[in-house]
Amino acid sequence: MPPTYLYGKERALKNIFKKLENVQKIFLFLDYDGTLVPIRKLPALAVISPETRKLLRQLSEQKKITLVISTGRAHADINRLLGLKNLTIVSNHGFQIHYKGKTWVHPKVNKMLPLLNELSRKLNVLGKSINSVLVENKKYTVTVHYRNVPVDQINVVKNLVASMSEKYFPFVKITYGKKVLEIRPNIVWNKGLAVQKVLRTFHAQKKKYSAVYMGDDTTDEDAFKVLGRNSLTVKVGSSKKTLAKYFVRNTDEVLQFLKIIVNGNYQWNSDG
Ligand SMILES: [Mg+2]
Repeated sequence: MPPTYLYGKERALKNIFKKLENVQKIFLFLDYDGTLVPIRKLPALAVISPETRKLLRQLSEQKKITLVISTGRAHADINRLLGLKNLTIVSNHGFQIHYKGKTWVHPKVNKMLPLLNELSRKLNVLGKSINSVLVENKKYTVTVHYRNVPVDQINVVKNLVASMSEKYFPFVKITYGKKVLEIRPNIVWNKGLAVQKVLRTFHAQKKKYSAVYMGDDTTDEDAFKVLGRNSLTVKVGSSKKTLAKYFVRNTDEVLQFLKIIVNGNYQWNSDG
């Protein structure tokens, strides 16, 4: 089923807020790039606005809400960008989870560090030789950004990355995102399984709760899949190819939603 526009029908939206009002706990999962911040040419330029940061801080301070940032970025990177304390952060596509001052790393991934480092070094050389390619070593995963590569050379870059990584198969695999290639440990783990782990860690099932997940990329689909019907899954962007139940058009419409729940009055006002 294609997703429904979140702001399409006032009555449906009122029901959504009513449901959120009636639960004891809201687990609010938010992706970063393309969800809270528009995608930029270079990942370093995707800086959060003071307004959005304030909104996140207010959300994180609400007892009823457990705010979880779910990103493909490295932990240190997202932590620096957000500049907020006491957040739960799922980073590196779920391989790392930071919560209540603790850090969890997928146990199988730690063992693969030497191999990942070696591959990362090789890919770095590639990045240095082709100006428009940006290689990001995120410790547990490596991201190759090709957003700035001329269109006729994209396949060349993709093939080069594939052939360089081949030696490390089946220990690593390549996944494809928005203008990026991700080289990551070839284990069954993703944002969706990380979301389930967060819910278990916080004993979500002990309370009447609702999970909300907003994200824009293919990696967020794993979360939409595990959360299913009883949750509010929202794809950011107009692509109809999603498992999310709803969509919003852009990051502004994400913020619009967050502003309504930050006030805690769960009212949808069609004028505002
Ligand atoms: Mg994203």
